[in-house]
Amino acid sequence: MQIITPLLVGFAVTQVSTLTTSAYLHRSLAHKAVRFNPGVAFFLRFFLWLTTGVKAREWAAVHRKHHAFTDEESDPHSPAQLGWIKVQLTNFWLYRRAANDPITVQKWGKDLAPDKWDRLMFDKGPLGLLISTVLLSLWLGWWQGPLAFGFHVVTYVLLSGAINAMGHTFGRRPYANSATNLHWLAAITSGEGYHNNHHGLPTSARFGAKWFDFDAAWWLIKIAERCGLAKVRKLESNKSLV
Ligand SMILES: [Zn+2]
Ligand SMILES: [Zn+2]
Repeated sequence: MQIITPLLVGFAVTQVSTLTTSAYLHRSLAHKAVRFNPGVAFFLRFFLWLTTGVKAREWAAVHRKHHAFTDEESDPHSPAQLGWIKVQLTNFWLYRRAANDPITVQKWGKDLAPDKWDRLMFDKGPLGLLISTVLLSLWLGWWQGPLAFGFHVVTYVLLSGAINAMGHTFGRRPYANSATNLHWLAAITSGEGYHNNHHGLPTSARFGAKWFDFDAAWWLIKIAERCGLAKVRKLESNKSLV
């Protein structure tokens, strides 16, 4: 089954990149809910560069705008405005449209000015993606490598779309906001599926509410904290979740 291995590897790459997207880009950079030790932060940035090509300040800016205008007209990717199927299928282009707007990036990402590593490496997204494809090809084979990476890219884009589309449409709403909680989505997105909890407590590093909730990025943060490699922001209103 030559085709199974590249698909499994691609899915594993997606899982690690959703973990780093959630722990670093989302919880640490965009919401400042956790601060990682500089070495750990650099490692997470490096992995994001290799697997997503995302520019961190663009991602954080678009996401903060989503929180500021959730499901209103100015929300970059609202299923209430556009319909969940459109957001699910076109999330990548909706994101790019917002990220390409210099006013959005300037306004919502002004604390995230590029540093020397961004200028040297991390802002060159396509280079990171190319290096990953070459590395996977050397490991798996000339066609299996691109297949694994292609499968990862499609899966990552679809899962990001699902958080923005289904995570504002289907599921439970324990907090009074338009986002929803979906256990199955949380299980495959490192906890991002607890999107209603997150909109309810946006500066909490923890998205799951119960000990058995699938919140892999929180588990990573907790391990890093125990090892003295991360500092979690303390919240008065967050006591019930810790
Ligand atoms: Zn949302
Ligand atoms: Zn958020």
